[in-house]
Amino acid sequence: MKITEHLENAKSTLFSFEILPPLKGQSLKELLVGIEPLMEFKPPFVDVTYHREEFIYKKHPNGLLEKVSTKKRPGTVGICAAIMNKFHIDAVPHLLCGGFSKEETENALIDLNFIGVENVLALRGDAPKSEGKFVSEHNGHSYASELVEQIIRMNHGRYLHEETEIGFQTDFCVGVAGYPEKHFEAPSMKFDLKYLKEKVENGAEYIVTQMFFDNQKYFDFVEKVRKAGITVPIIPGIKPITTLGQITMLPRTFFLDLPDPLMDELEKCKTNTEVKEVGIEWAIQQCKELVGANAPSLHFYTMSKADTTYKIAKEVF
Ligand code: FAD
Repeated sequence: MKITEHLENAKSTLFSFEILPPLKGQSLKELLVGIEPLMEFKPPFVDVTYHREEFIYKKHPNGLLEKVSTKKRPGTVGICAAIMNKFHIDAVPHLLCGGFSKEETENALIDLNFIGVENVLALRGDAPKSEGKFVSEHNGHSYASELVEQIIRMNHGRYLHEETEIGFQTDFCVGVAGYPEKHFEAPSMKFDLKYLKEKVENGAEYIVTQMFFDNQKYFDFVEKVRKAGITVPIIPGIKPITTLGQITMLPRTFFLDLPDPLMDELEKCKTNTEVKEVGIEWAIQQCKELVGANAPSLHFYTMSKADTTYKIAKEVF
């Protein structure tokens, strides 16, 4: 079923979450067993992130360095199939512009359609860690809006090299990312919203937000998005803080602020256990307020660790 149908049919705020494919060489079984307890909260869909290649440098005996491309977390499509098979719920693969030519995107979409995936989250992706700036593949997309456009063209039976009206029509429901605290490359929120609108005009039917820790940021964002004329559902992304390291890592990586009352509590913590307690309690309060405000779904960034999300969901749903 499409995410938009799940949202339309919902009588109250839904529970959903996203997982990361396991690191290469690790088994999927552990991940599936790990997320099983979350099925208690009846998620209608689970997102599976996509991780583009990274470059590593291998040193040869003669001293020369060889640049090697490696994917640390392959397997997004296979995991979607496994989730749908095991839990009989929808799996939403994340699809990136980065690392994909248009042909590769088309082929990935054909595979996803064949295994029964009906929804995709269309993203640009970031630059590989070793490179400073996002650069599109040769014959690839530069922005998520272009990827959305390609998916919608396939929904109309229009493929890259066979522009006929009799091509098989896929029927993907497309989601895109939104940033309550602005995407870090956008010079202003107005600029960012202009391109968010472009993604929706190109056919995106829902938005999932970047994590935020201050609900007011989400409420203000929703207001601005609506004022910009965008009417699709906006699903808030929730990430509980669980380690001391995340207190500095999350703002640095995701370009977001931690509100003062949360920081006041976190600064008292000496161990990860204490941080986790504060993080869970903060997320519970955040979630209760968002449910009270009729958010369409709460979308948890689990980082594939289900125990924290379980504790929060138990208090909220
Ligand atoms: P875009 O919408 O393309 O926007 C990128 C930037 O370009 C923005 O600053 C925007 O304002 C600007 N822009 C857009 N269009 C134009 C234009 N035509 N001209 C000029 N500027 C423009 N990353 C992963 O690698 N894997 C994942 O699985 C993943 N999942 C995510 C899930 C969610 C819910 C979110 C919020 C993010 C996720 N990301 C993931 C991270 C995402 O790939 C990065 O944040 C990336 O930097 C931007 O992606 P986007 O789709 O928002 O890009």
